[in-house]
Amino acid sequence: MSEGENGRKPAKGARTAGKPREVVAAEQAVEASPAMAQYLEIKAANPDSLLFYRMGDFYELFFEDAVAASRALGIVLTKRGKHLGEDIPMCGVPVHRADEYLQRLIRGGFRVAVCEQLEDPAEARKRGAKAVVRRDVVRLVTPGTLTEDSLLEATAANYLTALFRAPREGAGEGGEVALASIDISTGDLQVGCVAVADLSGELTRIAPSEVVAAIGREEAPDIWLCLEHLGLTVTPVPSAYFDSRAGERDLKARLGVSELGGFGDFSRVELAAVGALLKYIDLTQLGRKPLLRAPRKVGHTAILVIDAASRNSLELVRTTSGERQGSLLAAIDRTVTGPGARELAARLSSPVTEPGEIGRRLDAVGFLIEQVLLRAGLREELAGAPDVARALSRLAFQRGGPRDLAGIRDGIRAAARASLLLAGAGGVLGLPEVLARIAGELAPDIDGLGARLEAAIVDDPPFQRRDGGFVKPGFRADLDEARRLRDESREVMAGLQTRYQDETGVRTLKVRHNNVLGYFVEVTAQQARQLMTAPLDATFRHRQTMANAVRFTTVELVEIEGRISSAGERALAIEQEVFNDLAAQAETAAASLNALAAALGELDHHAGLAELAEREGYVRPVVDASRCFDIRGGRHPVVEQALRRGGGSTFVANDCLLGGAGALPPPEGFADGGEASIWLVTGPNMAGKSTFLRQNAIITVMAQMGAFVPALAATIGCVDRLFSRVGAADDLARGRSTFMVEMVETAAILNQAGERSLVILDEIGRGTATFDGLSIAWATVEHLHEVNRSRALFATHYHELTALAGRLARVANVTVEVAEWDDEIVFLHRVIPGAADRSYGIQVAKLAGLPAGVLQRASAVLAELEKTERRDIAADVMGDLPLFAAARPKSSPLQASASAPSPVAEELRKLHPDEMTPRAALEALYRLKALAEDGKT
Ligand code: ATP
Repeated sequence: MSEGENGRKPAKGARTAGKPREVVAAEQAVEASPAMAQYLEIKAANPDSLLFYRMGDFYELFFEDAVAASRALGIVLTKRGKHLGEDIPMCGVPVHRADEYLQRLIRGGFRVAVCEQLEDPAEARKRGAKAVVRRDVVRLVTPGTLTEDSLLEATAANYLTALFRAPREGAGEGGEVALASIDISTGDLQVGCVAVADLSGELTRIAPSEVVAAIGREEAPDIWLCLEHLGLTVTPVPSAYFDSRAGERDLKARLGVSELGGFGDFSRVELAAVGALLKYIDLTQLGRKPLLRAPRKVGHTAILVIDAASRNSLELVRTTSGERQGSLLAAIDRTVTGPGARELAARLSSPVTEPGEIGRRLDAVGFLIEQVLLRAGLREELAGAPDVARALSRLAFQRGGPRDLAGIRDGIRAAARASLLLAGAGGVLGLPEVLARIAGELAPDIDGLGARLEAAIVDDPPFQRRDGGFVKPGFRADLDEARRLRDESREVMAGLQTRYQDETGVRTLKVRHNNVLGYFVEVTAQQARQLMTAPLDATFRHRQTMANAVRFTTVELVEIEGRISSAGERALAIEQEVFNDLAAQAETAAASLNALAAALGELDHHAGLAELAEREGYVRPVVDASRCFDIRGGRHPVVEQALRRGGGSTFVANDCLLGGAGALPPPEGFADGGEASIWLVTGPNMAGKSTFLRQNAIITVMAQMGAFVPALAATIGCVDRLFSRVGAADDLARGRSTFMVEMVETAAILNQAGERSLVILDEIGRGTATFDGLSIAWATVEHLHEVNRSRALFATHYHELTALAGRLARVANVTVEVAEWDDEIVFLHRVIPGAADRSYGIQVAKLAGLPAGVLQRASAVLAELEKTERRDIAADVMGDLPLFAAARPKSSPLQASASAPSPVAEELRKLHPDEMTPRAALEALYRLKALAEDGKT
C-alpha cells in the first residue's frame, strides 16, 4: 500500500487536518499518562492479539502491534508521543475500512482485539479536560470465530475445532482424539472421536480455520506434527478448559434440553472437547452466545474414510496448491447460493457408505433432473434466497443489522415458494423421500414471523440499525406519528427561510444546519448589521461570526429544532424497539429457521447436482453392498471440462472393472470376464494413466456422496476406505524426502486397506534405484492381492511387473493405447487389455523440447541398455520366487513367541472397553478378526 492509502499521511500537521475536534483531542490524549495507562492496561489483558484501539474515526495500533500490522498491511508507520523516553510507533486503519484490514490480518494468522470507545468523547470531557474516553475490548477476532459476511467466504464453512486426546494409562502412540467443531457463523456443531492414525484425514475433511488444543509438542509429538503438517492455526488453551462436566452442562443449557441422548451418545472426552470449544467462544465473544444447531455426532452415518494424502492428491475441494479453482468441487459446483455451495463441499468431503442413504440422495437428484421446469423454478427462487443461517447467527451475537432481518424475511419467502413448487410437482407420483422432507422444512410453522417481517422491514434496508429508516410506514402508528412530526417540522423549517427573507428583506438569508450549531440563520457580514439592530435584533440573536458570514438563531428556530430532534429521536427509539422485537422473535424461531436454512442449502445442492448431471451428461450410479466395481465409459470431470474449455481434443472415456461386472456383460477383450480386482496399468508417459486412476477414485467419491457420475454406466460395491497415492512430493518441513513420503503413504495403505477398500497407487517406488523400486512395487502388488484383498489400480512404468498377471489370480494387465507414426507417438488415451512394453519416454521428452543432441544420445544409450533385456531377467529371476504369502515370515500373529506377545493379544491389551464407542468397538472386533485370519494363512 502506498503512503496514506488508508486516507492518512505521516506528517503530523496533515494527520490532524480535517478531523473532528474530539478525534484530535483523543489522539493527543494518548500522550498524556492516563490515556497511556488505559492503553497499557487493555493491551496487557490481550497480550496475544493485535489491539485495535478506537480513537474517533480510526482504529490505532501502537508499539509492536503497530510494527507488525504496518508490515502485514503495508500501511504507513508513524510516531505519536513518547513512552519511557522512546518514540511510540503507531499506525491505524479507518473504521469504515476496518473489515477489509481485519480480513487481511486474520488471513495472515493474527488475532485482533477490537477495543471500542464506550462513551461519547463529549461525555468524557464533562469529567474534566484530561479525562480519558472509556474504552474496552468488545470482541476478539480470531480465524475460527468470524460472523461478518465481509470476513467470511460465502461458499465455505468456517470451523473452529477443539481437539482433545483421551487420557490413557501409559498413553504412548495411537489412541483416540476427540474433535468438536463449530461454525459459529451458522451454529453448525459436529462432535466425534477418531483414531490418531485417522486424525490428519479427519482434520483435512473438516478444514478448520483454527484449532484450540491443550497439547504441547513434547507430550503429544504425533498430534503436534500432524497439526503442523496440515498448516493449521493452533491456539493453545489451558487444559482446564477441557472439562467434560462443564461441556455437558453448557451444551444442554445452549440447546435448552435436559438430556443429550436425542442427539447421539457423547463420550466424556467428546464432551470435554465441546467444553473447551464453548469456553473459547465465550472468551472471544465476551459472553455473547452462538445459536447452536442440534449437534451432529460424527460417525453416526458411516463416512467413507479418506486420509489427508488421498484427499490432497484427488484435489477434492482444493488443488494441491490450495486453490478452489481447478479442484473437483469447482468443476461440479452448479449451486446458486453460498449455503448450497457449502453443503456441496461438506458432502463431497464426507461421502457415506450406506447404500440406502446414497440411493435416497440419488432419488432426489434423479427427480430434479427429470422435472426440468421444477428445477428451473426452484433455482430461480433459491438464487434470491439470502444466507439465513449467517444472518440469524449475527443477530444472536448482537452484531446483526436491518439487512439480516430482511435476509430472514427473504429466506422465508423463497423457502415458502420453493416448498409450494415442490408440493405441486409431487402431485400424483409423490416426491422422493428427501425432497418431501425438505418441502416440509421449507414451510415451518413460525407463528407468522415471515408476515411480520414483510410488514415491518422496508424492501432494501440500510446496513446499520443506528440511523433508523428501515421500518416500513404503516407498521406502527406511533412511529408514523413521530416521523410525521419530524417531517412536518422540517417542512416548517424550510418555510421559515422564505418567511425570514420576507421579514428582513434579505433575499440571500439562509436557514442552515451543521453538527455543532444545529439549525441557524446565516447572512453575509454586510447584511448582519441589519439583523443586529432594532427591530430585528429582538428576533435574531447572534451566535457566530465567520470570515464572510454571520450566524443567528431565533426562538422559533430553537423550538422547531427541538420538535424535529425529539420527534426524530422518538422515531429512532421506536425503530430500535421494532428491531429488538423482531430479532428476539427470530431467535425464538431459531430451530425452525435453521432447519429452513439447511433445507434451502440442501435443495440447492441437489438441484445443482441435477443441473450438473444434465449439462455434463452424467448417469445415476448403482451403489450396493457387492464388491463389484464396474465403470463403463468413465471420464475425469475436471480434465474433461478443461479440455473442452481449451477447445482441443475431447475426453476419451474408459471402462474399469475390478471384481466382476455389474449388470452389463463384460466389455470385449477381458478374457477373465473382468473378475480381476487389481489392474496393473502400464503405458507411455503422458498417455493418461494418472487421469484414469484418479477418475475412478473421483467417480467413487461422487457416487457415494449421492451425485450422478461422469460415465455411461456405473455399479459400485460400497467402498469403506479410499486410498490414493498419486505423484510424489517432498515434505521438507518434516524432514522427509520424496521417497520417504512415498513409502510412509504406501505403508499407511498396506497397513489399513481392507476388502472393501479402493486403492489407487501411481508409480510406487520411483524415487529410488530401479531394482529397489521394482522390488518394492512387486511386493506391494502381492501384498494388496494376498493380504489386503482390496480393489486396486496400480500404474507403473516397471513393465516387468506385468508378469504378475500370470502369477496372481486376480491381477490383470491393461495399457493405455498409443499409435506410432514415424518415430512420433499419438496418444489415443484408450485403456485396453494388455501390457505396454515401453514407455516412449524419449518421444515424450522430444515433445517437451529437450535439445536434439540429448535426444540422440538418449536413444543410443537406450538401444544399448535394451540389449540386456532387463525385463526377461526380472521375469526369470522373479519366476523362481515363491509368492508373497508363502514368502512371508513364518511366525503367525496368533502365536506368541517366547520374546514377543501375539499380535491379537497385543491388540486386545491396547483396548479400553469403557472408553469405546459402539462403532470403535465394532471396528476393533474387525481388526482382531483380520489379525486372527492373518495368523491362519
Ligand atoms: P506420466 O506417466 O508421464 O505421469 P500419465 O500417463 O499419467 O503420464 P496423465 O498425466 O494422466 O498421463 O495425462 C496426461 C495428459 O493427457 C492429461 O493432462 C490430459 O490432458 C490428457 N489426457 C489424459 N487422459 C485423457 C483422456 N482419457 N482423454 C483425453 N485426454 C486425456
